[in-house]
Amino acid sequence: MKWGLLLVLGLASASVARPESDGEAESGPSPDNQDERVSYEGAQVIQVDTNTDKEIIESIFKKKEVDRWAGNRTHMDIFVPSSLASEIKTFLMEKNVSYSVMIEDVQRAIDVENLVETDEDEFAGRKGHKMTWKSYHSLEDIYGYLDFLAETYPSQVRVGSAGNSVEGRPIKYIVISSGNPNAKKFWIDGGIHAREWISPATVTYIISELVENRDNNQQIASDIDYYIVPVINPDGYEYTRRYQRLWRKNRSRGNYFCPGVDLNRNWGYKWGGLGTSNENCREIYRGTGPFSEPETRSVSNFILNNKNDMKGFITFHSYGQYILLPYGHDYNTLPPDFKEMERVGRKAALAIKSVGGATYQVGNSAKLLYPAAGGSDDWAKGVAGIKYAYTIELRDQGTYGFTLPAQYIIPTAKEAMAAVHTVARAVQES
Ligand SMILES: [Zn+2]
Repeated sequence: MKWGLLLVLGLASASVARPESDGEAESGPSPDNQDERVSYEGAQVIQVDTNTDKEIIESIFKKKEVDRWAGNRTHMDIFVPSSLASEIKTFLMEKNVSYSVMIEDVQRAIDVENLVETDEDEFAGRKGHKMTWKSYHSLEDIYGYLDFLAETYPSQVRVGSAGNSVEGRPIKYIVISSGNPNAKKFWIDGGIHAREWISPATVTYIISELVENRDNNQQIASDIDYYIVPVINPDGYEYTRRYQRLWRKNRSRGNYFCPGVDLNRNWGYKWGGLGTSNENCREIYRGTGPFSEPETRSVSNFILNNKNDMKGFITFHSYGQYILLPYGHDYNTLPPDFKEMERVGRKAALAIKSVGGATYQVGNSAKLLYPAAGGSDDWAKGVAGIKYAYTIELRDQGTYGFTLPAQYIIPTAKEAMAAVHTVARAVQES
């Protein structure tokens, strides 16, 4: 779509935006740790060209409530709260910066993303767990599913906790074993960023495929043991369900006004570099030191304790549809076997395309998106030495962003499963 047309669309939507508040006095910063459900009524997500004048972009991001949702080298999705939507769009127009409105009203998108079918509970009672993959489930449902699998398939499945979160929730893992003493290991995780709901939904779907649909996945299940954590950030996940749908970080209480650390900036490989912040209030706040957070500490220790023969690593995020390769901490820092990793990544993208039709871009994360130090994939490759280490950004490409409606869970998860198959084949050959 041409930017000129986008500007016209943008203008049209600006004219129906909610009026500014009438000069109400600012009451100072409000604590983010108040436990009230936040409404995003009137908030919007707008898209601008990434090559927009840097000063203009920076002045928009000076407001703490403005949040970069996603972006790459061509465009950037920016969340603007209701109170600033008109002001920011007017500012962009005055500066002749074209933009398009991706989400007209974020609260409306949230209201319809997770419509639960009424017969779901009844159905759930009959099969011994509550997962449906037709809606986004609570942590309790997800953990209940893992326990159900451990009880139902005791010879294949082991469930435990890698440690506790800041608020004391267990970080549950499931080990799906091949029964083969020479098996390689494959790590899969999700839910490190709280608001990326499609990630735990996808990872639990992958678990169901590997355990309950094992016969159809035999070629990747007979000689690989899977180590899977569906929700690395359980506090954050529950917080998004109860209070703030768009919460990203964990629930660390280091700062009263701005709790939370970005757990994917907290891992101990080149910690503190580009694409991170030392300010508590930022979404990319890296914490006080590498592995300052119990979630990253426990999960990384769990990986290290099992790293022998661990050859595959996929961490699922959303959104944007990318298969990202390390290293992400800086530009032009590629692992020596990057070409081989890229070959497998491209194969995975082709598999995704043939299964579900979505286009996933493949490349080094710093180059394709932007540098970000302290990510788990960098650590997996650089410290744990896991050969095939990827970050996969699931659907979509910005139409719904984090508020991807639940009917997309199964198509997205099937695509992800195709990627797991491809990487698993490479693991077998390694
Ligand atoms: Zn993420």
